[in-house]
Amino acid sequence: MQRAFNFGAGPAMLPVEAIQRIQDELFDWKGTGVSVTEIGHRTQQFQELLTNLQIKLRKVLGIPDNYKVVFVTGGAQGQFDAIPMNILGDKKQADYFVTGTWSKKAADFAKKHAEVNIVATASKSAIPAVSEWKLNPDAAYVYYCPNETVDGIAFPDIPEVGNVPVVADLTSSIAYAPMDYSKFGLAFASAQKNLGIAGVTLVVVREDLINNPKPYTPNVWNYKVQAEQNSSLNTPPTFAIYVMDIMVDWIIAQGGVEALGVINKRKVAKLYDYIDNSSFYLNHVEKAYRSELNVPFNLANNEVLPKFLAEANAKGLKYLSGHITVGGGRASLYNAMPESAVDLLIEFMDDFAKRNG
Ligand code: PMP
Repeated sequence: MQRAFNFGAGPAMLPVEAIQRIQDELFDWKGTGVSVTEIGHRTQQFQELLTNLQIKLRKVLGIPDNYKVVFVTGGAQGQFDAIPMNILGDKKQADYFVTGTWSKKAADFAKKHAEVNIVATASKSAIPAVSEWKLNPDAAYVYYCPNETVDGIAFPDIPEVGNVPVVADLTSSIAYAPMDYSKFGLAFASAQKNLGIAGVTLVVVREDLINNPKPYTPNVWNYKVQAEQNSSLNTPPTFAIYVMDIMVDWIIAQGGVEALGVINKRKVAKLYDYIDNSSFYLNHVEKAYRSELNVPFNLANNEVLPKFLAEANAKGLKYLSGHITVGGGRASLYNAMPESAVDLLIEFMDDFAKRNG
């Protein structure tokens, strides 16, 4: 059976191999006679899964030894509160880059806990140059979103901010290409785009940052407590963690994030090249700041957008509409999106443009 391709921003499609493995293992997980969804989180089998997943993630992502890896619930938005609660320490101020929908929300949430300084605010097409950044050397951390999923804006590099720890929201960009985790104080991602399904959020945090949480931090979001308890203070989202484990195995089987990065960059370059050479589609983000995962685009004649979406949908090229706040179209190209599907999308876009231009 030919499956459809989900170009939506998330939850994203899973690789066929992952779905098949879930199917195969669901009835009897590891000879237990029950599925992974029906087994206690404190069983030896599940605790081993958690421990091994951490080990694999450290290797696959290149997480240094002085970082804790924890799995929590509440999604990425939960972390918008949990981060200041856990790592402000005795400081009162935090720096935020506002480059799109998600970092704006994170900065707004943080105002409950800290004095928030906005380092720079992006336009719809670019992030201000380094010379315009207003960094506060007394900030507890500098927060940024490397890839803004809604707006299609990305930082070309991890910002250089001196000695202040950098916090990165990797929700839409984790594991799509190599990244230097030693440059982060904390990095986090909810899993439903590149690491499986909704329900679990991965937090990678330098261990010296987690010793002084606010007393009102909920225990389930207290990194120190969760790190000490193998992320099992309470019942963790077992199925989502299991699927993350499968996704990490799949990433390893593809040759790791290095190999995926090559394919992902090729996929997205094809799409931008096509858009840039077309007068029917346009992307308004300056080349240096374009997302490599979420490609927003407008049609020269936006009135035919509903027709575009309906025809694409009928061809199995699904969920191509832009975020409700920005409109237009958007193609999200996470790890599980095959390169052949990007070719199909471009072919369809070209055919549609010829018929409707
Ligand atoms: N940050 C980014 C970059 C996102 O793309 C999203 C979800 N699209 C979120 C945060 C919010 O994630 P969640 O729904 O898991 O809270």
